[in-house]
Amino acid sequence: MAARFDGSFTQQEPIPEAGIDSVVAILRSGRLHRYNLAGDEAGVVAMLEAAYADWQGARYCLAVTSGGQTMQIALRAAGIGPGDVVATNAFTLAPVPGAIAAVGATGVLVETDADLVIDLDDLIRMARKHRPKALLLSHMRGHLCDMDRAVEICTAHGIILIEDCAHTMGARWSGRMSGNFGLAGCFSTQTYKHMNSGEGGLLTSDDAAFMARATILSGSYMNFASHGAGPALSEYGDARLDMPNTSARMDMVRAAILLPQLPALDRNIDRWAARYDCVAGHLEHHRIVLPKQAAASCRVGSSLQFRVPHLSASQCEDLVRTSAARGVEIKWFGRADPLGFTSAHPSWRYMAAQELPGTDLILATLFDMRIPLTFSLEDCGLIGRILREEALAAGARD
Ligand SMILES: *Cc1c(COP(=O)(O)O)cnc(C)c1O
Repeated sequence: MAARFDGSFTQQEPIPEAGIDSVVAILRSGRLHRYNLAGDEAGVVAMLEAAYADWQGARYCLAVTSGGQTMQIALRAAGIGPGDVVATNAFTLAPVPGAIAAVGATGVLVETDADLVIDLDDLIRMARKHRPKALLLSHMRGHLCDMDRAVEICTAHGIILIEDCAHTMGARWSGRMSGNFGLAGCFSTQTYKHMNSGEGGLLTSDDAAFMARATILSGSYMNFASHGAGPALSEYGDARLDMPNTSARMDMVRAAILLPQLPALDRNIDRWAARYDCVAGHLEHHRIVLPKQAAASCRVGSSLQFRVPHLSASQCEDLVRTSAARGVEIKWFGRADPLGFTSAHPSWRYMAAQELPGTDLILATLFDMRIPLTFSLEDCGLIGRILREEALAAGARD
């Protein structure tokens, strides 16, 4: 009988015991709101902001309720609003175009190349044609484009660069941390990202005035003095009256869940790399294409994508089905009606429809798999073997 995997693709690791203890203590105290501080205690949200800014190598960090909120707040704090154009990757997740729509800006989508990164030649074309005020650069599934060139293009065209690092927390380009290339880095601590608080987001920047605006936007109720990695109080002069309160604060419980996860991140990045390499090794075959990683890029392998370019649509559906029958859960980005995910640009009907033939061609035979750290290397070996067998079998069927 064909080998079967019986692990769960949605099972994350438990929260460290220190986090559980700290959450219980917070629940006992009844002080859950980030500004509900006794005496001169810092509060765990402020501690998380300070620790994350330090780890990220950013001057400032603001903790909020979701990755989507980091992007909405970043766009607004960068002065983006109705009438402005924001460019982003055609291949990304719905909260990215959603953030652009939420601030009332007009989104334009840039093509994706075979390595699943933004097509920088198309970005130049779009920059000339649409004059975007900002690029919300989404490092979708952890793949980093040529960041030196992306920064160069943004600088040349006067485009504000904001990075969506939901899948690149801990990734680097030429040794520099993803998130530190433009005005701001937007991170998610939603369950399926690199730190898990159920929901949550971390916004980083080196720009004091920007961060002051972001902090007021997050809903600081004028308590901005108690932020762990916020700018000097003198930066809040105008921001405190000009910026609307969008109530997106992180609470103590989530911060307490996150803080003890931070010291494990570097080790977890190595654990993801080992798992990614193990699955990828089994998929080495001329009919299966994995995105190439640039020499300068050091990504976090928390998920894996592969294409089987010679498959028809029905063979792609077959591959999803036959893999699932052997316990391996993969998603297919080519499906006309997105299933279990929202990464297909035609389903974002709140944006003007765009012709994206390059992206559509890539997505037509692109598959996606999560790699939770609960998988052992043996699990990854088995998953890799199953995927290889099923991918090759799907192509042989008619
Ligand atoms: C998960 C994700 C986000 C942020 O998502 P939230 O659920 O709002 O935290 C942003 N961009 C991408 C590409 C994502 O996958």
